[in-house]
Amino acid sequence: MPEDISAARVQVDAGLCEGHALCIQLAPEVFDLSDDEVAGAAPVDGQWDQGTWDNVKSAVDACPRQAISLLNTSTKGQ
Ligand code: SF4
Repeated sequence: MPEDISAARVQVDAGLCEGHALCIQLAPEVFDLSDDEVAGAAPVDGQWDQGTWDNVKSAVDACPRQAISLLNTSTKGQ
């Protein structure tokens, strides 16, 4: 999990996501539910404040499908 907020990017694996919407409850400013009830992540690269970051990390932990990944864009996900 990246430590640099400014370089972090959130990604939801649509193949794993079952639309439980726990992530949306925890971080509604980042996650959204599409029409087919699969959560998607809004593009908020480099604009997260600490509160949003904490909410996203809570969503990662809460996702029952482990569908949420946090990528470090400065290393291209490595
Ligand atoms: S909590 Fe996980 S499974 Fe549920 S909508 Fe969010 S990403 Fe999808």
